[in-house]
Amino acid sequence: VEQYLTRIEQEKHLNVFTEVYADEALQQADRVDQKLANNQAGRLAGMVIGIKDVLNYQGHGVRAGSRILENFTAQFTGTAIQRLLNEDAIIIGRQNCDEFAMGSSNENSAFGPVRNAADPSRVPGGSSGGSAVAVQAGLCLASIGSDTGGSVRQPAAFCGVVGLKPTYGRVSRWGLIAYASSFDCVGPIANTPEDAALLLEIMAGPDDFDSTVSSQPVQAYSAGKLPDRPLRIAYLRDGVESTGIDASIREATQRKIDELRSKGHTVEPVDLSLLKYLLPTYYILTTAEASSNLSRFDGVRYGYRAKSDADTSTMDLLTLYKKSRTQGFGDEVRRRILLGTFALSASYYDAYYTKAQQVRRLIREETERVFAQYDFLLSPTTPTTAFQLGEKTDDPLQMYLADIFTVQANVVGYPAMSIPNGTDETGLPIGIQLMAPPFAEGALVALAKEMS
Ligand code: GLN
Repeated sequence: VEQYLTRIEQEKHLNVFTEVYADEALQQADRVDQKLANNQAGRLAGMVIGIKDVLNYQGHGVRAGSRILENFTAQFTGTAIQRLLNEDAIIIGRQNCDEFAMGSSNENSAFGPVRNAADPSRVPGGSSGGSAVAVQAGLCLASIGSDTGGSVRQPAAFCGVVGLKPTYGRVSRWGLIAYASSFDCVGPIANTPEDAALLLEIMAGPDDFDSTVSSQPVQAYSAGKLPDRPLRIAYLRDGVESTGIDASIREATQRKIDELRSKGHTVEPVDLSLLKYLLPTYYILTTAEASSNLSRFDGVRYGYRAKSDADTSTMDLLTLYKKSRTQGFGDEVRRRILLGTFALSASYYDAYYTKAQQVRRLIREETERVFAQYDFLLSPTTPTTAFQLGEKTDDPLQMYLADIFTVQANVVGYPAMSIPNGTDETGLPIGIQLMAPPFAEGALVALAKEMS
């Protein structure tokens, strides 16, 4: 813990932690030492982790990177975090992220941007940017993030670490501040597939507080095995052929494909006919869900409340809502609430929301057809390496493209993982993504180990 606290101090300019629990972590370390001495320590004894600022941890601030939760303190500890604590993990602090997990660059945070440790003029990815850099820069051993459309995997790729998004419903969302409830997943970021698997295995499993969690038994993912035969692996043809993707990434992906072939696996290209509908479907549905989820932040029940103007001593309730939300939410969150409210409005509901739900079904069916023939689907995690801070902030659509390869897993609810795949010629990390069928996290981890 002391070593990590020193590192956090040294790397303060990266803006990773929004709050460090120094004294508490040291005390917890003492308690764990005691337990170790008495042979009573849990499975995570000594594991120092950080948590994304969207996860509730009782008695600690939680801000979702937003002004609207100013001075708000978590009233309870979420299930995933509680299970880690029960196994004697040490939580060293909470980590900067895009506001309400909306973003791909960590530039939408009320706490300012996080910087990529590989090149501090570049973004770490998002929305779990702080969580990825924390592992990249050795500020903690692992982090817990959330992934609604790539927020664990995309920053993991930009930072050269491992990010695992489990099957939807594998880990309880109780205590995770909701962005888009039918997409949100809690997932680990770590140095190795084994570490990520261990954290997942402890967080996963049924929870009375979240009815969407599956009752499927939790396996020992860290000891997951591959079938005893050559694998059938599909890869996204666009991922190695499309000119919209950095040449260094295409080449690195191709090298991995060749490597897998040389080990005797079948690796074949597939085309997703619905690829171009992934982002529109994702952004219509997630903004719709977000507009509903974020309606609870009204200036009354949580955090930030707008003040009356100097010339008026009172204001009516509607004005209070409007002012608090206008001042409390940042630009991107406001944009998404507006988009989502529009998509759900009476006159447009069928044209957008219903249509997007129908396309979501088609995407799921197309994905199922791929997995009827293949064990895994492989692609680059991102079309580019980490971009410059400010490079895409004026163009939301360009920013949304950063998630072109990651959103599919959330749209269909499948597990997916990003593992490091070397660097480009300038030393910027490249990630490769592996996707598996629902609840095949064990095999996913096993393949990640084989490819690491
Ligand atoms: N970048 C995507 C978005 O802005 C994904 C975010 C996430 O997974 N939380 O919605």
